[in-house]
Amino acid sequence: MQKRIVVIGGGPGGYVAAIRGAQLGAKVTLIERHKIGGTCLNYGCIPTKTLYKNAELLHTLKHIEDFGIKVDHYSIDVDKIQSRKDEVVHTLVSGIEQVVKANGVEIIDGSASFIDAKTLKVVKADGETIEVSGDDIIIATGSTSAVPPFEGVNLPGVVTSKELLEFKSIPEKLVIIGGGVISMEFAGIFAALGSEVSVVIRSDKFLREVDSEITKRFGAMLKKKGIELNKSVENMKIIQTESGLKVTGDNKKGPVEFPADTVLLSTGRVPVYKDLNLDAAGVEVTKKGIAVDHHTFKTNVDNVYAIGDVNGIIMLAHAASHQGIAAVESIMGIEHKGNHDAIPNCIFVFPEIAGVGITEDEANEKGIEIKKSKFMFGANGKALSIGEPDGFIKVISDMNDVVLGVHIMGPHASDLIAEGTLAVANRMTVDQIANTVHAHPTLAESFAEATLGLRGEAIHMA
Ligand code: FAD
Repeated sequence: MQKRIVVIGGGPGGYVAAIRGAQLGAKVTLIERHKIGGTCLNYGCIPTKTLYKNAELLHTLKHIEDFGIKVDHYSIDVDKIQSRKDEVVHTLVSGIEQVVKANGVEIIDGSASFIDAKTLKVVKADGETIEVSGDDIIIATGSTSAVPPFEGVNLPGVVTSKELLEFKSIPEKLVIIGGGVISMEFAGIFAALGSEVSVVIRSDKFLREVDSEITKRFGAMLKKKGIELNKSVENMKIIQTESGLKVTGDNKKGPVEFPADTVLLSTGRVPVYKDLNLDAAGVEVTKKGIAVDHHTFKTNVDNVYAIGDVNGIIMLAHAASHQGIAAVESIMGIEHKGNHDAIPNCIFVFPEIAGVGITEDEANEKGIEIKKSKFMFGANGKALSIGEPDGFIKVISDMNDVVLGVHIMGPHASDLIAEGTLAVANRMTVDQIANTVHAHPTLAESFAEATLGLRGEAIHMA
């Protein structure tokens, strides 16, 4: 008999699971209460990366004379920036919607909650309430911005990332609270657009998941790019003054304050499951999100799965999609061969940062003996030709020369990390990479060089 799968949430976790389920012969219903594409396509990955392109162009313009080109005047058209962003999002969202439908997936525009483990109540967009049932249910309801528990978070001008994406004018003074990936991406974009940007964080560390040599070098570059990083600020509050907003707090030296016309709250994301009535299905949650098995993404209830941000394992779109495929394959009785350990993490800042696998700090903490090698983009022909020689690729291996981690800061790091991910996911050896011919002149040659360095044989490194 044909399996009936119901997916709640149409983000990169849910819509990919729905398509994969249909490919495997299930009858799939996808319930989405806002827009197909979820956070990623509508309010996350895609709109931020269109704005990143604007910022990248402005960086190029700043240095355009280095290329022998003179630009006497340019100006910023915020309406055009916004309409381009919206057009990219619209193209992608409508394309995905078509692909989902073309695979025979039924889409219901509504909000779902559990009646029991196999039945959902769905309040449709037109107000009608229906029941939808499935043999298996996949929860893919994602996450939302966390709002920190301090004074002033509801003041006008205090926004989340979703709201800031809709900016109508460029903030003169933008204060960003939080030092994670989203914070640093917005800092880079708005600094390039001309805002004075202050990032204020409680901890003395930012971009915690990143190799600490990279954060040190990147941190040292921030000021030159118009970003002020303020660490160890406690007791934060946001105050409305006559001249605008002010974030106040205390650092190790005493009271500090950061004037702003816009304050971005970027202190993390929380899973969305509270309105799902999980108790009716008996699904358990932990502090991080819905509790699941890390290979099938099955919850404690046999026919209920939870994928993507809602399980809190790792809040990235590609992780959500791969978890969706794993869940569906488990439902359809297929052995899932995906690797959910080697998840690349890309940060679209200037220069880009990307990493996969173990960092030096993690290896030290876990007592794993490693070898490491670094190749500087300053010695790479392509990086010099395109005028982006800042940064390096670091490759980490174990003592048997198996590649355990790759960490990059530099041009197109987000694309280059694909080779590192392939290596880490497949436990490739230093020899396998070093013996593979890399085209010239490309940035990818730096990866081969860093790997050759582990054998003490790098060609373009003294
Ligand atoms: P979501 O994309 O959040 O989708 C969940 C969907 O479920 C939503 O559409 C929601 O409307 C729907 N839903 C919720 N409850 C119900 C219900 N009861 N009934 C029906 N529908 C429901 N990740 C990257 O990998 N790369 C990036 O560059 C990147 N940039 C980001 C930038 C920003 C500003 C933000 C906020 C996030 C970014 N992310 C990025 C993270 C990425 O967006 C998420 O990891 C990803 O969207 C998670 O996918 P998901 O399918 O789990 O959930």
